[in-house]
Amino acid sequence: MAATTLHIAPTDPDPSFAELIAGRPHLSIHALDGLLVEEVPLARIAAEAGTPTWVYSAGALRRRARALQAALKGAGLQAGIHYAVKANTSLAVLRVLAAEGLGADVVSEGELRAARAAGIPASAIVFSGVGKTEREMRLALAEDILQLNIESAEEAEMLSAVAASMGRRARVALRVNPDVDAKTHAKITTGLTENKFGVPIAMAPELYGRMCGLPGLDPVGLTVHIGSQIAQGVASYRAAYQRLGQLVRELRAAGHPVHRVDCGGGLGIPYRDETPGSPAALAGAIKAGLGDLGVKIMLEPGRWICGPAGVLLTRVIVEKHATTRRFVIVDAAMNDLLRPAMYEAWHGILPVSPNAFHAPLSPADVVGPVCESSDTFTRNRDLPALPPDSLVTFLDAGAYGASMSSTYNARPLAAEVMVEGARFVVIRERQSYAALLEGQRLPDWTG
Ligand SMILES: *Cc1c(COP(=O)(O)O)cnc(C)c1O
Repeated sequence: MAATTLHIAPTDPDPSFAELIAGRPHLSIHALDGLLVEEVPLARIAAEAGTPTWVYSAGALRRRARALQAALKGAGLQAGIHYAVKANTSLAVLRVLAAEGLGADVVSEGELRAARAAGIPASAIVFSGVGKTEREMRLALAEDILQLNIESAEEAEMLSAVAASMGRRARVALRVNPDVDAKTHAKITTGLTENKFGVPIAMAPELYGRMCGLPGLDPVGLTVHIGSQIAQGVASYRAAYQRLGQLVRELRAAGHPVHRVDCGGGLGIPYRDETPGSPAALAGAIKAGLGDLGVKIMLEPGRWICGPAGVLLTRVIVEKHATTRRFVIVDAAMNDLLRPAMYEAWHGILPVSPNAFHAPLSPADVVGPVCESSDTFTRNRDLPALPPDSLVTFLDAGAYGASMSSTYNARPLAAEVMVEGARFVVIRERQSYAALLEGQRLPDWTG
């Protein structure tokens, strides 16, 4: 893996430990206990829950949900926030967000079930995704969720048939591809015509009209999602919402009802020193493009809500000194936190021991034990000496962390912990080896 990041020239110096902590209010250093999440020493969590372990701050989740709500309200927008469950599917996380009044944006039956299990009402759930199965459509209709987002003419026909066979009409929004470049990593941009998502904006009027004529559909509006980790201001949002506003006017002029615009997710976070748009700037972009249309605004943020609220806590297995490089081999790997291997993503790394914050630094490659060269979290990061059993944390791992984990190399899924003030709870047990092998069959002819 190259030492590049998505948006920053690799020659810029990495942020210091002090800068990383200053930007994350739920983290602090205690002179004796070392790195804390809220008031809980990470060393205590490691001792009691083991490693690797995901650690989420309930306070940070709440603060971020409230900050986004306040920004929308501040812009005078009547908006509903539907948290994108794929970013972090833990029931405890969903419940904390539900208690703040957030609904859910789901992309599978499993996510729909998770949202319901966490207590999110069906009336606050949106179903997105390019490939909803008939079974998923039936479940969504039986639950009577708020809205399904339609991604193609073919899907519109299919959903109409399913709904009609159940004697229902599905409330649907049409996902429009506004053909704007969100200037994010190629693997997470979605708003260009070359992507698989949505229908080209030029085709939307004709298809929306057709949808209005389908017996099983009740078109309620439009939806857009131009990409994830949009980290360079809100210009691409502005362009997308302007185009969507035009489309709303055009559809209404043709006599079609348009009550809602779902503005998607994608707001970036500063993993390193990116300067993503603020919630206030996003709210401003929505207001500028859609504010005078009298539509109900919806938003589907994932990463912005829960990314900064979580860390991945890991333990050093060994430091390996090769001819030219120093490798810190930790007990977390790409099967736990996939983002560095998949997107060349940069995550802040902090030691946990109080002494480590004052120790001399030297460049190290931090890697996991998985048998892939891409199992490299970072190269040439300035870190203190990290002898075996030292604890290390990867920052901003609350989104697309645990939810993207696998058991590759037969590594059990890591435990998840939630911190609330001075207490913490294991919200998901580390997967047992029995559970890891569960469900497999050995036909007698294999022996
Ligand atoms: C992934 C996704 C989101 C959330 O994206 P974030 O970058 O995590 O905010 C929202 N809506 C849709 C349709 C998505 O696919």
